[in-house]
Amino acid sequence: MIGTGILKGMAVTARNFVGSYFDKERLITIQYPEERNPLPENYRNFPFLIYDGDDPHAGLRCVACKICEKECPPQCIYIVKSDDKKPDYMGKPQFYPKVFDIDISVCMSCQICVEVCPFEAIKMDKEFELSKRERFDALLSRKEELSKSNDYYHKIHPLEAAAVDKNLADAAAVAEAKKKAAAEAAAKAAAAKAAATKPPPVGDAASVPGKPTPSSQQ
Ligand code: SF4
Ligand code: SF4
Repeated sequence: MIGTGILKGMAVTARNFVGSYFDKERLITIQYPEERNPLPENYRNFPFLIYDGDDPHAGLRCVACKICEKECPPQCIYIVKSDDKKPDYMGKPQFYPKVFDIDISVCMSCQICVEVCPFEAIKMDKEFELSKRERFDALLSRKEELSKSNDYYHKIHPLEAAAVDKNLADAAAVAEAKKKAAAEAAAKAAAAKAAATKPPPVGDAASVPGKPTPSSQQ
């Protein structure tokens, strides 16, 4: 009969409407913004910059290599590299972005900047309440606003952040092992060179020119 489908659909709607007063499972709406549904692990919005430790300047992982700026399809990243180097949170000197802006009115949340970054320095945020009254300058996210801690990254993407931390720790261990092996090889080479150029010990008759040895006196 024509219209049966509509009646069935209306019956489901009515059942859920009435049922939602008695069964919380049927209530699919929430009182936003007081209540919020948790976002899934892989939800993404706009990028942010990660820093390690407590200091956003010292701990910023970004070295201003500009790869993300070049690869961003709509060209909404703007970076100015520093002239000097600053110690990172481990004390190692590195360049840093003097300016790092992202125009969020242009960003299309494609995540390409994240994929091309060799330093795990830029990741996707879950922050979506970014509406502003002004259209232009206010939609330019600056370095200070973009910088967020690794702890924040763990909070919003726990699985991904744990995997990134493990990769970084593995890479650091490999680099440390290479450094140690190179230092050992250099020490061995220096010892071998020193042994080859060492003068003979004083009093060694066999090696003093002109001094007769017991065998030569017979
Ligand atoms: S998410 Fe895509 S569009 Fe947005 S800054 Fe990164 S590369 Fe550019
Ligand atoms: S975020 Fe990554 S790719 Fe972009 S400039 Fe910084 S280090 Fe380079």
